[in-house]
Parts: sequence; structure tokens; C-alpha cells
Amino acid sequence: MIGHEDLAVRTLGPCRIDSPLAERLASRETTQHSVVEEDRILFDDTISMAGARGLPVEQLPSLEPGGPRKRIYFDPAKTRVGIVTCGGLCPGLNDVIRGLVLELSRHYGVRRIVGFRNGYRGFIPHYGEDVVDLTPEVVQHIDDEGGTILGTSRGLQDPEEIVDALERLNINILFVVGGDGTIRGAMEVVRVIGERGLKVAVVGIPKTIDNDIPYIDQSFGFQTAMAEATKSIHAASVEARSAPGGVGLVKLMGRHSGFIACYSVLAKDDADYVLIPEVPFALHGERGFLEHLRRRVEDRGHAVVVVAEGAGQEHIEEHEPGRDASGNVRLGDVGRLLRRLICEHLDRAGVENNVRYFDPSYAIRSVPANPYDSAYCLRLAHAAVHAAMAGRTEVIVARRRRRFVHIPMPLAVSRRNHVDPLGDLWMSVLEATGQPVRFE
Ligand code: ATP
Ligand code: MG
Repeated sequence: MIGHEDLAVRTLGPCRIDSPLAERLASRETTQHSVVEEDRILFDDTISMAGARGLPVEQLPSLEPGGPRKRIYFDPAKTRVGIVTCGGLCPGLNDVIRGLVLELSRHYGVRRIVGFRNGYRGFIPHYGEDVVDLTPEVVQHIDDEGGTILGTSRGLQDPEEIVDALERLNINILFVVGGDGTIRGAMEVVRVIGERGLKVAVVGIPKTIDNDIPYIDQSFGFQTAMAEATKSIHAASVEARSAPGGVGLVKLMGRHSGFIACYSVLAKDDADYVLIPEVPFALHGERGFLEHLRRRVEDRGHAVVVVAEGAGQEHIEEHEPGRDASGNVRLGDVGRLLRRLICEHLDRAGVENNVRYFDPSYAIRSVPANPYDSAYCLRLAHAAVHAAMAGRTEVIVARRRRRFVHIPMPLAVSRRNHVDPLGDLWMSVLEATGQPVRFE
């Protein structure tokens, strides 16, 4: 059970400096725009959850709210900021970079902001990467493009060397934009910062196209990715309906969590089957997936299958689970496996078939954010700047139940967000596809 200690946010020290935003915020008489430090956001969201703790309301576990503080820790005139993006691409990375730079420079008056190139590699002298000066002019229109202007990379880097670079460049605040690996890396950096007695804030903006970071409503880029994925499902459906025995097979992102597969199928209600990592499925046998698919193709003449990349890993025999540069287990290619097995199964049963395979992952990851995600990225960036300027560290900013909050990094990587096979999202998917609850 999550308790107070899990939700406690680390700070570098007391906030003694008047925020440059304070005057503007205070001049609004009707609305309170800055955070009331004493107020907190309740963690539990049902009466039964809160009631089960048997505590008075002020002792219930609660999160620190995100947002501007009247007093801040860092003096903007003396503050130097670094930004790094790591891990795989995700729509909205450039929006986040842009939002950080504009908020820091225009509203707080921070003048020196640098970007590190190609993820944590950018700190390591041996790679010879230059740092990039980030000004409002440089970032003004970068949100028109997908990807990240800073580049990104995988691969473990030495946190001692990363902190050496922070010291060399006199950086006071480091913003890390990345997934669970990046946040783990940032925690190592925080450890070394602490060991050296430095006052450097490390604030994360969580990036996960799979939406697998826990305790947050939805990660940035997810909505864009899901909208893009629906295009492939539509194409697969058109292909399937246009050929005798047409089967459209679409592999989507989702190493551990099938959110993109689920939501894109709900949005484009054309799929007959969705396979996700959270719900194991049998392939063979009377009640297995392949036999069900055969009957569907014979009954209707076509079928559409959407599979998340992490689904059905237990069926990939020849697969040697190697690791990528960051230590993530390499997945076997479930899409290719299914394509082969579907063809073989239908051939063996004497069913004419035309299987069309779509693997749009890179095309999806690299698109620019849609307007919803752009707005969300900007607001996350604002929240991250407010948190960092107030001296918060080892924390990510996130929106939880529509409020911006600070979540300690250790909690953010303590588990993954999954589609609940007994929950209402999966229930909706089953209703939309008409597939059986289990293939067994
Ligand atoms: P994605 O969602 O694309 O996987 P990610 O942030 O998890 O994003 P990774 O490649 O796993 O992507 O990690 C990015 C960087 O974070 C790596 O280059 C590495 O420097 C650092 N990193 C990853 N895992 C760890 C770890 N367990 N401990 C310390 N640092 C890590
Ligand atoms: Mg990862």
C-alpha cells in the first residue's frame, strides 16, 4: 500500500527567493494561480480505498501539487539549465523541449539553457558530442517536427561522468525527458549529486508511448500515437475486405502494456481480435486463436488482427532473449510469427487466404504531436519548470486525475501501468471485437 513516505518529494532547501511570476500571479484578484504549499492532493480516489486506511483525512496519503510557487529556490539570474531526451522517440518531445525553454527564459528570466545531444551520451566526453544552446529563437518552431532536436540514444552511461559534466558546465537544474530507463538513470545521477554535496535539481518529464508509467492519467504522445495507429488498422481493414480470405494483421507498440492496441481498436472499430501482453493466449487447439480466426474468415470472408509487440512472447521458440544497449530484453517478433502461423493454418485447412502484415511502429513514433498532446506537453513543461525552480528534485511531473502533481522518481519506476484483464477497458475491447474472453 502506498504511504506518506512513498509520496514525499525531495527538495534542495527552503525557497527564499521571490518568484518573478509572483507579482503577475498576485495581481489577479479573483483567482489564486500559485500553489498553496500546505494543500495536498489525495492519493486515493474512492471512498472504499480511503476508508480502508482508517485515517483522518489530513493523514491520508497525498501528493504534492504541481504549479508555480510564490517563492522559489533558484535565483533565475544565476541559474543554468540542461535538458536531455533519452530512449525511443515519442510524439511531443520537441514540444516539451520548447515548453521548457520558453517558460524558463520568458517567464523566469533564466538565460543559459543548454541541450545535451543524443541522450545520456551527450554528457560523456569520449563521445565528443557538443552541447547546444537553447534559446527561444532556436526552439520557437521545433514542435512542427516529430522526433527530438536533441537526438536520443540507449545504452548505460556512468553517472559519475554525467555529474562531472554538470559540474563542468555549472548546471543547477537538469531536465530529463524519457521513459523508465531514463528515470532510473536520473536517480543514479541524483545519488552522485548527493554524494558530492551539490545543489542540482533533477526533474523528469515522463515519456512513454506505451502509457505504462503508473499513477499518471496518460503520458504525452499517447493520444497522437493512438490516432496514428488507427490509420494502420483502417488500412488493414480495407486490405482484408478487398481480397478473398483477407486477413489484415497490424503490430503496434506495447512492450509490456497493450494500451495503444486497445484504444486504437476502440477508436477504429474494425478489428476482430486484439492480442496484448497482459492477456496470454493459446494458439493451437479447438479453442485457440488460430482456429477461431479460421472460423471467422470462413464465416465473414475476412478478419483484422491487432497485436501489441509484447504479446504472445511465450510462443516464440527460436527467440534468444538478448538485451538492447540499455539492458531491455529484446522481444521476439510476434507479428512475423503470427503472419506465418496464420498462413500455414489457413492453408492446411484449405481456406484461401491473403494475409497483409502492417508494422507501423516507427511511422507512428516519429509523427509530430497532435494539438491535444502539444497542449499537454506545454503544460507538463511548465509544471516541470515550476518544480525545478522551487528546488524539487528526484521527481517527475505528471497529471493525475486532471491535476498536475509531483511524483517521486522511485515511485514512478516501482511498477508498470498495465491493462487490467478484469477491468473495464479490456471489457470494452472484448465488446468491440467480439473475440472470446480467453483463447485456451
Ligand atoms: P523507452 O520508453 O523508449 O524504453 P527509456 O528511457 O526506458 O525509454 P532506455 O533506452 O531503457 O529508454 O533508457 C534510456 C537511458 O537511460 C539509457 O541510455 C541509459 O543511459 C539509462 N538507463 C536505462 N536503464 C537504466 C538503469 N536501469 N539504470 C540506470 N540508467 C539506466
Ligand atoms: Mg524503457
